[in-house]
Formats: sequence, structure tokens, C-alpha cells
Amino acid sequence: MRPIDADALVENLELLAKFQPEDKQSTILGICATIKATKTLTAGSAQHWIDDIDHWICPVCRLEVTNPNNYEGCKCPRCGFQDPKDAELVRHGRWYKPHGMMPPEHHHRHRCSECYSLAPYERPGREWLSDYCPNCGAKMDLK
Ligand SMILES: [Zn+2]
Ligand SMILES: [Zn+2]
Repeated sequence: MRPIDADALVENLELLAKFQPEDKQSTILGICATIKATKTLTAGSAQHWIDDIDHWICPVCRLEVTNPNNYEGCKCPRCGFQDPKDAELVRHGRWYKPHGMMPPEHHHRHRCSECYSLAPYERPGREWLSDYCPNCGAKMDLK
């Protein structure tokens, strides 16, 4: 595929529009406006998913998806691109044992440092310190 020079294309279209009846003229000028808008959007959003009204386009591999939220970490399923702002949404925490006054049944139990919910049980009486908090989704990789 040959890359199209958007500026030259718009210029040609605008010139062409001058020789068209009024209704066609406005259609062509509308296309020109869309091309210009798309160009600005693409240039300014290399780090972000491109919002194309009814779907999203990966800025790296151009894959179209219905919604990046459908994929883990909002990553592109084809190339793994991740919007930096989505990466920031991943919370980080750790399992810890709170000190101080706790009801006896909570002694020796770990809690999520982010949402304070108790660690899940792997089997009765045995905690499972999972990689992610099942309650708030924080990644438990803090030391
Ligand atoms: Zn991609
Ligand atoms: Zn949590």
C-alpha cells in the first residue's frame, strides 16, 4: 500500500469541489474536513487508541476493535499496544498482616493493602495469597 499524502489529496479535492454543483461541493468539502481531522487525530495520538466513533483503532498495528476494555489491561490483542493511561489504571498492592486490634477470627489473616479486604481461601484454613486481589484487582507485586 502506498502512503497517501493527505495534504495533496485535500488540495486536489478542494480544487475539484470548485467545479462541482453546490450539493456535490459540500459533500467533497465534508470529506476534506474529515481527512484533515483524521490526520490531526492520528498525528497527536500515537500513544493512544484512536476513537473512530463505532470502534477503536490500535495506533501501532491499525487493528480495529469494538472496545479495548474487552482485553486484559486494555491491550491490543494483536500487537500488545497499551495506552499509557490504561497502564496507570492497574493498581499495585501487597498482602499484609495488619497490626493492632483485630477480631480473633482475623488473626493471622492477610489483607489487601489497597482495599483492605481479606485474602481468599485456597482451602478451609489456608489462605491463598493470589497474584491479584480478587476484590479490587490490584496486582500484588509491591514489596
Ligand atoms: Zn495493535
Ligand atoms: Zn484489594
